[in-house]
Amino acid sequence: MQLINIWRHFHTITEHKIMVARHCFKVGMYWQGLTHDLSKYSPSEFWQGVKYYQGYRSPNNAEREDKGYSAAWLHHKGRNKHHYEYWIDYSTGPVKGMTGMKMPLKYVNEMIMDRIAASKVYEGTAYTQHSPLKYYEMGKDGYMIHPETRALLEYILKMLDKKGEEKTFAYMRKYMVGRKNYPKIK
Ligand SMILES: [Zn+2]
Repeated sequence: MQLINIWRHFHTITEHKIMVARHCFKVGMYWQGLTHDLSKYSPSEFWQGVKYYQGYRSPNNAEREDKGYSAAWLHHKGRNKHHYEYWIDYSTGPVKGMTGMKMPLKYVNEMIMDRIAASKVYEGTAYTQHSPLKYYEMGKDGYMIHPETRALLEYILKMLDKKGEEKTFAYMRKYMVGRKNYPKIK
């Protein structure tokens, strides 16, 4: 294990955490801003992150390619409600087997902030307001996510793509933060 990667990984996850907190604070999400992704500092996630440190992409991808699964990710998604993967469970409806449950709005909000911050950290100066939507478009076909949650996530990412961060955050603060029901989307 390279010592330098301990520092690099710590730096990456902390930079991400600070950025998520800054975004969350802007819309009034204080507790979630502070506690976002704390499990990344737990030994099961931290040391895998160091071992598979990449710099340009998540170490989970490298761990997955190496071992066939990512123990760090399984640990992470099982504890962090802002990931739609946390909400995969046995269906009670028409779908057979497992499916995405509808995420509570407060975690959809955190998921949006997480995606914006992750795009910024990984893309650096190449980041634009179009980046989070592009990232979503690349992976969306593989998402096991509730249709209403998907529609809202897409709606906000498209708003960000078109109108920018300032207007999108204003919308979130007005219609999404501190609310229980999803906003009506056009
Ligand atoms: Zn997370």
